[in-house]
Formats: sequence, structure tokens, C-alpha cells
Amino acid sequence: MQNQESTAVFEEFQRQYNTFYSIGDLTPTLCALWGIREPAACGGKTIAPVLDQADKLMDGLGKVEKTVLFCADALGNAQKEYYTEAFEKIRKVAGFEIKSTAVMPSVTPVCFGTIFSGAAPCVHGIMKYEKPVLSVETLFDVFAESGKNVAIIAVNECSIDKIFRQRKVDYYSVRTDEQSFQLARRFIAEDTYDLILCYMIGYDAAMHKTGPFSETAAAQAKLAAERFSQFSEDMETYWKKYNRVLSFVVDHGGHSVDEQHGGHGENIPEDMIVNHYYRICEKSC
Ligand SMILES: [Zn+2]
Repeated sequence: MQNQESTAVFEEFQRQYNTFYSIGDLTPTLCALWGIREPAACGGKTIAPVLDQADKLMDGLGKVEKTVLFCADALGNAQKEYYTEAFEKIRKVAGFEIKSTAVMPSVTPVCFGTIFSGAAPCVHGIMKYEKPVLSVETLFDVFAESGKNVAIIAVNECSIDKIFRQRKVDYYSVRTDEQSFQLARRFIAEDTYDLILCYMIGYDAAMHKTGPFSETAAAQAKLAAERFSQFSEDMETYWKKYNRVLSFVVDHGGHSVDEQHGGHGENIPEDMIVNHYYRICEKSC
């Protein structure tokens, strides 16, 4: 029942913006790639081209063993159209670009709540800009249940730092994006975790203060592409013996509010259309 409710919400936005996918499709897709059950309230669907590729490369589904989720706040489709070089780099690294619609209101805790539960806001319970601990089952719960080691790395007090608490995972709450990035790199090198979520707030913070296409915002978009590419290299170096997935995960986009400021939260294409990226690699011995 709840699952159908979520599916109906996702499909409505897909119709409105003419996309095949929703941000709610990431969790069921990762679960299928890993062979782990979906969270209870999940209403998203698996992304067929991504699963097909994994099936071919790994000779079957459910065989992924390591994953990094690089969550880049507010780097949506409007940003992709403007920052062509940065996004071309991301697309080249990943291979798969999955155009998807966000949910309303298109703000961080609402959207990441949906991304990691596969449930619509009316089901997962965060329906405005607030950061309570999410009460529905998430990707992190089902991974922990399957005995996987999960790390969530984010700057202090941001949505990702707060709404996924009280799970059997390790939380790293740091002061800067650079610390999040370096910590995630260290965990890849040390082979400490199975699933690493590394969050980046930089572009979102810059776009609110200086506008989505300011110099400061542009530097953050470029940095996001560089970090994503570095993760790919690190995974290649240290995780060669594992079947692995690297994903670029976006919550919402953003638009200009006035000449100096940006914002998001509305039901408009600039805020609602995002792209998720997947890089699928099979182990090599
Ligand atoms: Zn956000």
C-alpha cells in the first residue's frame, strides 16, 4: 500500500517532466546490484540499463561487493546544462547517466529521505525543510541487516548528518567537505567499509549565497567532478579485486532567485530534474 503510494508520487513527477526515472529508484537499484532486499516502504523501481550492465559484467545480479555514493548537493540538470565540462567529466567516468525527477518540496532532507528509502515524502514523513531522524527503513538499515559495514560521512548538522541517525552504521560528522572527501579516500585505501556515503555541501552553499552560476559556485561544480573522478581512481587502485559501483547522487537542482542568490524547493524543471550517475566495474584478479 505504502509502496504503491510512493510509486504513484514518483510517476506523477516523471509524467510532468517527461523522465523515465525518479530519485526514488536509486535504493532499489543498489539493493538489486548487491542482492539485498529493498527497504519496506520502497516504491521506486530498479533501473534496467544499470542492472543489465552489471549482469553482463559480473555474470549475474546481486554480486556487487563495494560501493561509494558521492552525494553532491544541488548539482542538478540545470547545473549540468551550464557546467558542461564538469558534467562531461562525470559522465565519462561513470558511463551511465540516468535523468530523474526529484520530489516536492525539492529541498535536501525531503529528497535525500526519498533517495535512501525509496519512499515518497508522504510515506517517509519529511515533507518540509526539517531534519528529524527518518523513521522508515532505509538503504542503510537493510545493508546493516545483511552484515555490511556502512560509513556515512558528512559535514556537521547537515541533513545527511542528522536524518539517517540511529542505524547500525558508523557516522563521521566533520567540519569541511575536504575532510569528508579525505576520510572517504582513506576508508577506500584501508578497505574498512563495504558502503561509503560521502556528502558534499559546497555547491549548494555557494549557490544559495552567490547564485547558481557565480564564480564560487563554478569552482564547487568543478571540484565535485574532480572528487568523483578521484574516487573512481582510488577504487581502481584499492578495490580491484571487488565487483564495485561508484555513483554520483544528487538530491535536487537550483535556480537563480535574484542576481546574487540561488534557491530551490519549487516544482520547476531547474529544481526538479537531476541526473544520477553509475559506474559499474567487475573485479579483476
Ligand atoms: Zn540539497
